Amino acid sequence: MKLGILALQGSFHEHISLLKKLDVETIQIKLPEQLNEIDGLIIPGGESTTILQLLEKYKFNLKEFNKAIFGTCAGCIVLAELGLIDVKIERNAYGCQLYSFVDDVLLENGDKVRGVFIRAPKIINLNDEIEILGKHNEDPVLVKQNNIMVATFHPELTKETKVHELFLGMIKEN
Ligand code: GLN
Repeated sequence: MKLGILALQGSFHEHISLLKKLDVETIQIKLPEQLNEIDGLIIPGGESTTILQLLEKYKFNLKEFNKAIFGTCAGCIVLAELGLIDVKIERNAYGCQLYSFVDDVLLENGDKVRGVFIRAPKIINLNDEIEILGKHNEDPVLVKQNNIMVATFHPELTKETKVHELFLGMIKEN
C-alpha cells in the first residue's frame, strides 16, 4: 500500500512521521498526476483557504480520485468545501488560537485518543449517510461517508496511531 499525503501546505510531515511508525509507504503529493500512484490520500491540517487555492492553482481534480481520502482539520474543511463529503462545517468554531485545546476523543469502537483541536471547525449538520466514528463530548469530530473520512482535530500531532489505523482499514476494505 502506498499513501499519498497532500504536501502543498500544512502538517504533512507530521502525517508522514506517524505513518512511518506503522510501516506504511508514503509519498508527498505536489502534482495531480501523482494521484495515479497511490491507494489513498491524506489532506493535512493547515489553512483551508490556502490549500483550496493551491489545489486550484495546480489543477487538482479530487472529485475524479475515486479512492479513500482522509482530511484532518483544514483537510476536513477542504473536503466539505469540495462537496466530497456531505457535511456542513463551521470554521474556527471554538474561537481563535487562544481557545485551542487538547482533550479526549471517544472512538465508536470504545477506544480513547487525545484530540488536538487547533482553531478547529465543528461539523454542524449530519445526515443519515454520515457515520460517526468519534465524539468529543457530544460533538461528532471524526466522521465518514463512503470512502471519505474527516477529523476536526489533528491525530497527526500526537503519537497515537489509532485514527490512522482506522483509515488504513478503510483503504483495505475498498
Ligand atoms: N482554522 C483553519 C481553517 O479554517 C484550520 C486550522 C487547522 O487545520 N488547525 O482552515
